[in-house]
Amino acid sequence: MFESLTGNSRVKEVLKRMLATGRLPGALLFVGEEGIGKRLFALEVARALNCRTPVELEACGRCSACARILQINYPTSVDSDDWKQMIWTNHRDVGMVVAPKRVLRVEQMRAIEREANFRPVEGKARVFLIDEADKLNDNSANALLKVLEEPPSTSHLILITSRPAMLLPTILSRCQLIRFAPLSPAEIEGYLTKNKLVDPSSARIRARAASGSIARALSGDLQTFNAQRKAMLTVLEALVVSDNRAQLLRSAEQLNEAQFKEEFEERLDVLETLIRDAWMLSLGSPREQLVNEDLANDLVAIGKKMNPSKAAAWILEIEDMREQLIVNINKKVATDALFLQMASGVIPQKRFSVK
Ligand SMILES: [Zn+2]
Repeated sequence: MFESLTGNSRVKEVLKRMLATGRLPGALLFVGEEGIGKRLFALEVARALNCRTPVELEACGRCSACARILQINYPTSVDSDDWKQMIWTNHRDVGMVVAPKRVLRVEQMRAIEREANFRPVEGKARVFLIDEADKLNDNSANALLKVLEEPPSTSHLILITSRPAMLLPTILSRCQLIRFAPLSPAEIEGYLTKNKLVDPSSARIRARAASGSIARALSGDLQTFNAQRKAMLTVLEALVVSDNRAQLLRSAEQLNEAQFKEEFEERLDVLETLIRDAWMLSLGSPREQLVNEDLANDLVAIGKKMNPSKAAAWILEIEDMREQLIVNINKKVATDALFLQMASGVIPQKRFSVK
């Protein structure tokens, strides 16, 4: 069932509608960030088509066909020759290809064309996934064109990529594009917790640090994230508790140091979550509802001194600055101005507008 997959409810609706009307295109292109479940959605399409006891045209998730489609026989060796073959699932109509090294190869596309031209062996439709489709080069892309243009009605190709700009126009124009959105922190946290993938106490922090990707939540660098939180907590304390403007300017300085250049917006995100948390505490919300639950002690102290109407204004100011970042403002000047403006407590007009 699509409902068992995390997030992207709009994509679920689109795919369900295609299945329900019998108009699933022969060639689909799943586009979206790494680690948000594109492969699982593709396999779910294959299950819906081949399930033995479908429920309202969706896969039951329990029959033997449903189970076997999720069992992918990845080669166990690192020998790239083994990765040049079609990688079959335990269902004889569902397979995939992945790039053995940096490119998807012509012979892999020929294998897909050959297999796509066979009738289904045991189910109702053959489904082939082309993972990392951005690794098609001119030759392999050309080898794919014919079957992509007119796949037999019982075969479906699903190309998957996080870098659609790398695909040739001839490929793009032959596929129906399905765009996946990044997952929300709540969706990621739910997934991590339900599947017991991380220590429950870190699930919320990881979800928050993941920028929409389950893969990043699992591999994420908690150390960096914790350092960011510590730095932004210092800002909030200087604003709320000590009214320490010198500290605010030092923090603004640090935020703009070269080593943190890439982290600038992440740090603004973090600052926002800390303000929201302290704000919620000041309004009497329980600690369990905080994003930064593990920092509750510090945040309680800040929340006690915080004026809730100021918190609302601060979040608006940060959002305002974020908007300004899209155009080319001087970040250092803007950060100084932001922090001092926040400290002054005056509700902002658009301050950093470019002349
Ligand atoms: Zn089933």
